[in-house]
Amino acid sequence: MNNKGNASNSKDIKRLNRILVRNIIRKLGPIARYELAKETGLTPPTVTVIVNELISDGVVLEVGHGESSGGRRPVMLEINPQAAYIFALRLQRDEVVTALFNLKGDILSHHKRVIDTAAPERVVEAVGNSFDWLIEDTGIDREKVLCCGVASPGLINTQRGVIGHSSNLKWDRVPLGAMLSKRLYGIPVHVENISNAAALAEKEYGCGRGYHDLIYLNLSVGVGAGIIIEDKIYGGSKGYAGEIGHIAVISENGPECACGRLGCLEAICGVRAIIERVKEALPDAVFESYGLNKNKLSMDDIIFPPILETKEVEGIFQEAGNWVGFILAHLVSIFNPELIILGGELSKAGPKFLATVVEKMNKNLLKELVGTAKVVCSNMKDDPALIGAYVLALEMLFSIEKWYG
Ligand SMILES: [Zn+2]
Repeated sequence: MNNKGNASNSKDIKRLNRILVRNIIRKLGPIARYELAKETGLTPPTVTVIVNELISDGVVLEVGHGESSGGRRPVMLEINPQAAYIFALRLQRDEVVTALFNLKGDILSHHKRVIDTAAPERVVEAVGNSFDWLIEDTGIDREKVLCCGVASPGLINTQRGVIGHSSNLKWDRVPLGAMLSKRLYGIPVHVENISNAAALAEKEYGCGRGYHDLIYLNLSVGVGAGIIIEDKIYGGSKGYAGEIGHIAVISENGPECACGRLGCLEAICGVRAIIERVKEALPDAVFESYGLNKNKLSMDDIIFPPILETKEVEGIFQEAGNWVGFILAHLVSIFNPELIILGGELSKAGPKFLATVVEKMNKNLLKELVGTAKVVCSNMKDDPALIGAYVLALEMLFSIEKWYG
């Protein structure tokens, strides 16, 4: 019995060491073998054995020589960006964006589709077709796509990949992870809330770099907060933390929300709510004079300065900014973050909107808390939720010992 236990322990240790070495190379590469030993706490011979295995598997590459610290210049190691690939997607009502990434985070090809998201089965089929199309487009070996990451709106059980509820997609208890995995030839799928995924992307590649505690506010069709505490997504007991879009801020006689209740933050500050209000507020002639189709109005049309600077539209953004600032004061009081990032279409509404948010937040905070969190607008060029889905799938991939065979 004991012997068996020890054998499995040493196997476990080997497995964990291999995962550790590979992760350090990913995070710190290009890196020399002696630095790897220092970072991992493993002996140089152990590091050598693992590195040799990783090189012969094609996972790690030797990429030239580093600076010498006295003796010979050390050979540097890096993850082979083509050792495996990741498929990621971002979902929202009537739209899905998919992309194939290499292990360096480069998007090899992407695909944006307008689809009817009412039936989960149809979404899974559309995503599957898009995956096949991307494989064909890039010409990469399908068997080298090893993990999938999904950013979706809603309350999500990330452990099980189940969307418990999404007012945005109008889904309840959809086992999206399992459904997608089946269509994607059995690869593992990680499903995460869209705001959490975007928060992670900002932390890795955006204005959140170097911060450990931050909040990303997704001000898009849906409204939600991604909370990062000590470098990790804070999900709460069920993974539902940050679902602030359906706090009923005007519960009596407020505007109707997609969730069926009245006066939710999303029914006031969500993209659809803003578009509807702008359409009502301005006479048709204003839209016509700028060649805009009132029935197909987008946020880009609204943040077009001659529209944005009308007093009616300024008033709408002022109200939205006030509610966002009010809710932010609560988040700052509860979590005491170092940084708040406003993302989504509303974050492009300009400096006046940002100033309204900050002013209202400060008004509602204890004075000692004013100025403790920096508030900025996202400046990521790529879709942060999509990038976050990639980061999560990458982490999943690097927790699997053997990628092939
Ligand atoms: Zn609601």
